[in-house]
Amino acid sequence: MIIVGLTGGIGSGKTTVANMFEELQIPVYIADNEAKLLMNRSKVIRRKLIALFGDEAYILKELNKPFIASKIFSNKAYLEKMNAIVHPKVASHFKRWFKKQTSPYIIKEAAIIFEQNKDSQYDYIITVIANKEERINRVLKRDNTSRKKIEAILKNQLSDKEKIKRSDFVIINNNLEETKNQVLKLHKKLLRLHN
Ligand code: ATP
Repeated sequence: MIIVGLTGGIGSGKTTVANMFEELQIPVYIADNEAKLLMNRSKVIRRKLIALFGDEAYILKELNKPFIASKIFSNKAYLEKMNAIVHPKVASHFKRWFKKQTSPYIIKEAAIIFEQNKDSQYDYIITVIANKEERINRVLKRDNTSRKKIEAILKNQLSDKEKIKRSDFVIINNNLEETKNQVLKLHKKLLRLHN
């Protein structure tokens, strides 16, 4: 089975595109969502995150997201340490999930593929791109956040130019109807590649 990575900068439309693949009956694994679920469900992760951040990391067994976000924002080393706890668990969860799939290919959405040099774990990589200003506006509309916070995240992400260079396919997500057409075309191509 083919593993197709789906990436792109903040607000580019990764989840929107992932949903379009799902509508075509392609199994989609959204690494970020699974990481959040595991942070609440896994006792091992909880214990390690409390050791890292302190008791405030959880409120009644629920991850205290604003607290963790403020910690990470103030000290970048925390992000790496948290990733070192969470990522291996997500990787083994993905392996178990992947073994159960029977589709010709699957989509794994992850914001950071190139940034962590994980390219080799995928057969193909799709990057979703959109105008940066448009992306910022989309995220401002979607989340309770600030332009400053979005720009801080943008600073940590590779440029679209670099991502495109390292991708097999690019989806330009400006207009939703056109995006859907690109997804359908790519879906057919991926099915052909499988046969
Ligand atoms: P993040 O990096 O924050 O996880 P993402 O890349 O997964 O974001 P989405 O959540 O899919 O991006 O899209 C960001 C927001 O923009 C969402 O509210 C989505 O509904 C909206 N959006 C996505 N694509 C378009 C589009 N072509 N036109 C208008 N709005 C869009």
